[in-house]
Amino acid sequence: MNKTNIVLFGPPGAGKGTQSKFLMDRYGLQHLSTGDLLRAEIQAETPLGKQAQELMSAGELVPDEVVVGMIRNRVVEEPRAKGFIFDGFPRTRAQAEALDTMLEKLGSGITVMLSLEVEQEELVKRLLGRGATSGRPDDRNEEVVRKRIGEYEAKTAPLKDYYKAQGKLRRIDGMGSIDHITDRLVAAIEG
Ligand code: AMP
Repeated sequence: MNKTNIVLFGPPGAGKGTQSKFLMDRYGLQHLSTGDLLRAEIQAETPLGKQAQELMSAGELVPDEVVVGMIRNRVVEEPRAKGFIFDGFPRTRAQAEALDTMLEKLGSGITVMLSLEVEQEELVKRLLGRGATSGRPDDRNEEVVRKRIGEYEAKTAPLKDYYKAQGKLRRIDGMGSIDHITDRLVAAIEG
């Protein structure tokens, strides 16, 4: 197995999107963000986009089948990719298991899971700040922001145990400057 597949993990507002761009360039990996893929479906007004929109604007997760299907299509389309950065996926145990199964069928697997750890009030501050400029409706409403963090704590954070059991969990301090956080991620990947 010579591919590098990274799960970039963390709550909403942890900096996954920002850090993904850097890791993509440094390691030549493809960036797969289920949030970005879903927003593209909404933009294109597809049936899938219409189904997802309501859940996303309420800060709830979209069904596992939907995101797993989107990720599978992308992974299969890019057999020659050096590897992927999964951003915002997996978010449930069913998604994590589906990801392992699909990569295994391709003779590959997850290399490492990098978990960005950020204090809750800092997340709320960052998301509402981003909402002022990002045009994302789910970043503008404090109630929705807190709902998303709650969904993360309830359904997504337990995945740390899933990857820990596989020896792949690396916890990264996600507080501080973007550059410092990047340095910590690189150290975890190369260390
Ligand atoms: P994000 O851009 O990762 O913050 O995702 C924005 C929204 O898209 C989330 O609040 C969910 O409603 C939905 N979403 C993105 N990725 C997933 C996923 N892996 N599983 C379920 N819902 C997701």
